[in-house]
Amino acid sequence: MNQCKHCEDIFDPMSLLKKRVGGYFNECPECVLELKTEKAVRYRGVVGAEGKMAAISIVAFNSEDEADQYVSTFNGCGFGKRKTNDCNLINH
Ligand SMILES: [Zn+2]
Repeated sequence: MNQCKHCEDIFDPMSLLKKRVGGYFNECPECVLELKTEKAVRYRGVVGAEGKMAAISIVAFNSEDEADQYVSTFNGCGFGKRKTNDCNLINH
């Protein structure tokens, strides 16, 4: 576990969220988002693939919130609000 240099929160540097938002090893994901310390453009496959699936559409977002919103509207699956990962088999 690491301690954030901004808010002094303890966070897991190996967590998915941390990996997703980037930033330095001593910045918690919340602060990375809040302070926008991660400068790299974020890319997100709309289908939420974990690498083995060809991305159907890759879109750059301004923020993680925006990205998540976009993804959730795109992955409705016709079954209501199912989790993104459940949809891969159905849609593919
Ligand atoms: Zn922090």
